[in-house]
Amino acid sequence: KEVHVIMDETAIRRALSRIAHEILEKNKGIEDCILIGIRRRGVYLAQRIAERIKEIEGTPIICGELDVTAYRDDRLEDRTLVLEDGDLAVNQLKNSLGNVSIHDKKIILFDDVLYTGRTIRAAMDALMDCGRPRMIQLAVLADRGHRELPIRPDYIGKNVPTSNHEKIHVALMELDGKDEVTISQS
Ligand code: 5GP
Ligand code: MG
Repeated sequence: KEVHVIMDETAIRRALSRIAHEILEKNKGIEDCILIGIRRRGVYLAQRIAERIKEIEGTPIICGELDVTAYRDDRLEDRTLVLEDGDLAVNQLKNSLGNVSIHDKKIILFDDVLYTGRTIRAAMDALMDCGRPRMIQLAVLADRGHRELPIRPDYIGKNVPTSNHEKIHVALMELDGKDEVTISQS
């Protein structure tokens, strides 16, 4: 099976550094911004960006996390279960943010790979259940195309045009012991 490296450690570091600067530029600082990572790898991306922003601006930024597996609309076989899990996702998000409210805040969502857009739609549902953010933005490490919903990222590590039978593999130091994005035939 052929595996191609599309981002190595240096490329990932540079892309995240660029995204940190783009976030600061677009939002004219980080006032009222909250970063929310989608489990699992989006959480580490959000944390890394938060660290970088703190280095650049000298101000800490709030970072939360969200697991929206249960919210995906193509997994609605068992509605009761999904509803309970949905509440769980909302509770988990609230817990990860402590007593910070997302009301009127600018939320920046993080995920590793963007594909159909269904995960992000689900994440937005969970966010809306938690309050009324002023704005939601999206950052992804890799955008592999094939959107099925009108969703586009504001910040992109790398555009990776893929066919439907190709898969992207994201390895992050915190979970996988190295930073690398590869593509292979699935
Ligand atoms: P979507 O919901 O947009 O169809 O898919 C995005 C979600 O599925 C993301 O949370 C991402 O982690 C995962 N995903 C979709 N396609 C890929 C892929 O090719 N590689 C990896 N690593 N994750 C993917
Ligand atoms: Mg994911």
